Amino acid sequence: MQKGLLMVFTGNGKGKTTSALGLAMRSAGHGLKVCFIQFIKGGWRYGELDAVERFKDMIDFHVMGRGFTWKSDNLEKDRTMGRDAWELAKTAMASGEYHLVVLDEFTYMLNYGDLDKQAVLDTLAKKQSDLNVAITGRDAPVELIAAADLVTDMTETRHPYRAGIKAQKGIEF
Ligand code: ATP
Ligand code: MG
Repeated sequence: MQKGLLMVFTGNGKGKTTSALGLAMRSAGHGLKVCFIQFIKGGWRYGELDAVERFKDMIDFHVMGRGFTWKSDNLEKDRTMGRDAWELAKTAMASGEYHLVVLDEFTYMLNYGDLDKQAVLDTLAKKQSDLNVAITGRDAPVELIAAADLVTDMTETRHPYRAGIKAQKGIEF
């Protein structure tokens, strides 16, 4: 039996987004299509943007969410962008085109009230039974954790940032 999973990668430790990228690569390697949507735009030139460009037949990659909240000068515009990204996510999930849909940094949309949490949970509960959905981000809401088939809580045991080592190419971006 094949069952599409709702997967959540959360916690403060590093590895949530890279884990979702690993899943995307794994699916793409089998010729299974992936839609990867980033809900938060970071400030860096992320290596994965150029890497997935080489797999564009298999992975549709969208960076379309809000900027970093604490840097934003236009919260309302950010919220609109987050909602547009969610509309795209719903279309992708309903399309039947994808084996895996990734909602990267999606927990922030729920925690900052950009989206109606219950409406999101209802949509996820009604997803097609063979569709896999992976959600990443810190502080996953308890209701999302309860709904998921797979939850990995990344624990920070140590991070080089604490030793004063700044973000490095190929590791953080
Ligand atoms: P990655 O994209 O490397 O898998 P992540 O998705 O788990 O990381 P986020 O919460 O999305 O982590 O944070 C994004 C950025 O913050 C990344 O550059 C990551 O390396 C960095 N980061 C993640 N965890 C920590 C931490 N515990 N301390 C300092 N920086 C961190
Ligand atoms: Mg991340």
